[in-house]
Amino acid sequence: ALSKQQVLDWLLRCSEVFAREQVFLTQLDTAIGDGDHGLNMNRGFNKVAEKLPSVADGDIGSILKYTGMTLLSHVGGASGPLFGTFFIRAAQVANAKQSLELSELRLVFQEGVAGVVMRGRAEPGDKTLCDVWWPVLGSLGQSVQQQINVIPALQQAAACAEQAVQTTIVMQARKGRASYLGERSIGHQDPGATSVMLMMKTLAAVVE
Ligand code: ADP
Ligand code: MG
Ligand code: MG
Repeated sequence: ALSKQQVLDWLLRCSEVFAREQVFLTQLDTAIGDGDHGLNMNRGFNKVAEKLPSVADGDIGSILKYTGMTLLSHVGGASGPLFGTFFIRAAQVANAKQSLELSELRLVFQEGVAGVVMRGRAEPGDKTLCDVWWPVLGSLGQSVQQQINVIPALQQAAACAEQAVQTTIVMQARKGRASYLGERSIGHQDPGATSVMLMMKTLAAVVE
């Protein structure tokens, strides 16, 4: 199972990862967007990390809800509402839990992604962050079925995310700013999808 402490560690490490990867994410967004994605994610998770100690006594649901609200109010653009909604909806399923079995974690993520889709209306192949989330959900679902332990399951999910983010390169963007470029969006890795991949890699590293 994933403990509450591991969830806290994950969010804290995400803030370090987004600080480290800000320039890279901004480069990706400069190619097909407005060049602010790295700044957006870094600013958001920096805020999350700032007050994380003050919500650490709560259950996983309240920690995820705090994360979502913080991202929603401190990150502009498309990604603020999308990542914010992800965590707020995920929080509803995580509820009052102090730890999550792999099957519960999968449901938490599934609900989060459902929130993102409700908000952004992305479809498979639209070159959005959902093009990483969907394969990750599939991978987690398989691991649940095969009753794989949480550590290898999250490692597989992270590997799956790394593959999925590569598939966004050949896609033509049909949602968000990158879609304004039409065919010129082809040949570039999607920044938001890259952020989801980084979050999954960080989660896998936390449980190791
Ligand atoms: P903005 O485009 O407003 O500057 P960001 O640069 O922070 O916001 O985020 C861009 C990312 O948001 C894209 O790389 C893409 O993954 C994601 N995105 C944009 N629109 C959607 C959508 N409708 N559904 C899902 N993800 C989206
Ligand atoms: Mg942008
Ligand atoms: Mg912007």
